[in-house]
Amino acid sequence: MAMQWTAHFEKQLAAILEELRTYVEMETPTHDKAAVDRLGAFIAERFRSLGCKVEVIPQEKYGDQLRIEYGMGTEQVMVLGHFDTVKEVGTLAREPWKIEDGRVYGPGTYDMKAGIVFCYFALKEIIEQNIPLQSKLVFFWNTDEEIGSESSEAWIRQEAKRSKCALVIEPAAGDGSLKTSRKGGGEFFLKVTGRAAHAGNDHALGVNAIEEIAHQIIAIQGFTDYEAGTTLSVGTIRGGTVSNVVPDFAEADIDVRVSTREEASRITALMQQLSPVLPGARLVVEGGICKPPMVRTPDTEKLFLLAQEQARLEGFALTERGVGGTSDGNFAADEGIPTLDGLGPVGDGAHASHEHVVIDAIPGRIAVLLRLFTAL
Ligand SMILES: [Zn+2]
Repeated sequence: MAMQWTAHFEKQLAAILEELRTYVEMETPTHDKAAVDRLGAFIAERFRSLGCKVEVIPQEKYGDQLRIEYGMGTEQVMVLGHFDTVKEVGTLAREPWKIEDGRVYGPGTYDMKAGIVFCYFALKEIIEQNIPLQSKLVFFWNTDEEIGSESSEAWIRQEAKRSKCALVIEPAAGDGSLKTSRKGGGEFFLKVTGRAAHAGNDHALGVNAIEEIAHQIIAIQGFTDYEAGTTLSVGTIRGGTVSNVVPDFAEADIDVRVSTREEASRITALMQQLSPVLPGARLVVEGGICKPPMVRTPDTEKLFLLAQEQARLEGFALTERGVGGTSDGNFAADEGIPTLDGLGPVGDGAHASHEHVVIDAIPGRIAVLLRLFTAL
């Protein structure tokens, strides 16, 4: 009879929570390198003590990245996550570590320190019980996911290229679903220049930048195509000085989300081709789609079905979903490897003060990870 790993990890729950508490009580806002490195050193030591080969990839601006290798073989599975958070040092004083109503609260619990702790316990079990692996495991824990992975994107892509698939330990969707597709996205910045003039005396001499940007905003919003999974939202506008001056400047920031690479190209071209409606107005378009979409391919589906089967063996149902938000899974998938995201904790409140992880779901999630690590 197949081993029920869930029951096994239920017995370790106290130790798992204690480990998570240590992580959470070392606050790690992305911009605080010293703070992030403190936890990084701790995590490195924990995986080293399991017998892993730990490589610390030094960074100047953000925390050092960790590349952790276990096992042999030519094929490798990439396991991806981050230990930076959006919460400033001191958040813990307002949002302390707390266990209440079957949930554990604290900054970074759900997004996504619990995910790293899950991997640690799954791997520890594999090593202690001497369970054979089919592939080498490469854990890549980065430190700047929350601001777009400026210093880690290239490393993530390089590692993904060498891997046969990527498992992303970001939080599960609200209902526990894994994430098999993510939209890509980015931001465009539109700047409009007109010509200033006295609104009363010289109205005809002015070129009203706000009038011009109004035309552009209507056009941009119109690029939205819900069926294709493409949305554009003008999120902010600024312009003008006082009401009796025809404004010579206006600008807008635009959020873009796309589901396919084709749509990313289509929108990029449309944005670059924007042209002024008013004679004498000038447009500058900056920014772009920096995160490619994570597309659900037939190989993604196979990987999901394998995960679903592991959950079934543990006695629970696992579902999948596509989501709008991006993660580092977008970069891994863009390298052409099947990517399964949302394998981390069940909970809620990422980036919010009610951030928490559902305790009951922890043993089953670790069990699925253990099974995936050994099955792939
Ligand atoms: Zn995250």
